[in-house]
Amino acid sequence: MQNLSILIVGGGIGGLTSAIALGQKGYSVEIIEKDPEWSVYGVGIIQQSNVIRAVAQLGIIDDYLEAGFPFDRLDIYLPNGDLAAKIPAPRLTDKYPAQLGISRRALQKVLADRAVAEGANVRLGLVVQTLQEDGNGVAVEFSDGSNGHYDLVIGADGVYSQMREMLFPDVEKPKFAGQSVWRYNFKRPPEVDALSVFEGPIGTGLVPLSDELMYMYVTTPEPGNPKYPRKGLAQVMREKLNAAPPFIAELAQQITDDEGVVYKPLEWLLLRGDWHKGRVVLIGDASHATTPHLGQGAGMAIEDSLVLAEELILADSVKEAFVAFQKRRFERCCYIVESSVAICDGQIGEGPLVNVAEATADMFKVIAEPI
Ligand SMILES: Cc1cc2nc3c(=O)[nH]c(=O)nc-3n(C[C@H](O)[C@H](O)[C@H](O)COP(=O)(O)OP(=O)(O)OC[C@H]3O[C@@H](n4cnc5c(N)ncnc54)[C@H](O)[C@@H]3O)c2cc1C
Repeated sequence: MQNLSILIVGGGIGGLTSAIALGQKGYSVEIIEKDPEWSVYGVGIIQQSNVIRAVAQLGIIDDYLEAGFPFDRLDIYLPNGDLAAKIPAPRLTDKYPAQLGISRRALQKVLADRAVAEGANVRLGLVVQTLQEDGNGVAVEFSDGSNGHYDLVIGADGVYSQMREMLFPDVEKPKFAGQSVWRYNFKRPPEVDALSVFEGPIGTGLVPLSDELMYMYVTTPEPGNPKYPRKGLAQVMREKLNAAPPFIAELAQQITDDEGVVYKPLEWLLLRGDWHKGRVVLIGDASHATTPHLGQGAGMAIEDSLVLAEELILADSVKEAFVAFQKRRFERCCYIVESSVAICDGQIGEGPLVNVAEATADMFKVIAEPI
């Protein structure tokens, strides 16, 4: 199909990469984003080799690599701080590195700049009020009183998706996974030049983001999903690291700014039924939100964007494209969500303990498959 007009609900990673992929196919794209500030939540993100491949396919690889910190291996440390292994990460492209650490703000800027350059019209601070399908499209009323008419709508509005609620009000809500992640930025010492993972009862890692910056993540069991007040958050994060390996314990002394701590209870959701209804389709976390144990949530959203754009061009109808899209994506996204949640369950004693190195090696094999 050519010349489609498309509304994307949500200006996050999936919404923006969809806008880029669809703009390149010549489609007319409008994005609406609920947050009037278009602020970016979180610290940084790890992007694996399949994401590097997808971003190369999107045609934005140079800006993307420039904005982050590329690396080709994973360093694993024992709970006492000794280096256990340096594991090479497999490359899926000839020219580009295997992995990238990138700050969420830098990623958002690269994606948003390109989405706009590809012609996307971005409107901030509004949501969908009503959706009404008619014979040849979807009539949409927005919360600011404006209206639009589109050939199709993409719900890229994240784990708490309003579009999912509108389409499938009876499906299960996102589930708390029993763990939370604490994150904090640091000046990057030269020796942290790859993803560094510290084993132990509290999972800790260091992710380089640029020549100057890295972030620490700390994964903790949080039974009952307690709420922590902002005031005192830095001290609580430091206390969580009481038994950390020496290098991490030393860094933990620098965790002093409550505002700098990014705390996030982990939630997940997997739509096992349709990801689409009529002329509306869900992508990314809206249909398959994972815990970050394999670092693949955003990767799946970016791959979704490429596949959906490919299927729309090939298909003779919107429905045919949506069915083909879900067929290509379902198994892979289920694998990521289920394998990630299994690691989490094992760590909190809700399931068999998973060997993370083996699970990661298996994941590398799966994601190497073409999308
Ligand atoms: C702690 C943590 C660490 C993670 N680490 C990694 C990692 O290392 N690597 C990785 O690949 N993935 C990681 N992820 C997962 C990744 O963040 C998500 O999978 C990814 O952001 C999903 O993209 P999305 O576009 O579907 O949703 P989002 O990025 O959440 O974007 C949704 C957008 O929609 C907007 N929105 C919401 N509701 C509405 C509405 N009603 N109308 C309009 N707009 C709306 C939101 O404001 C937001 O801008 C991590 C997640 C967590 C929680």
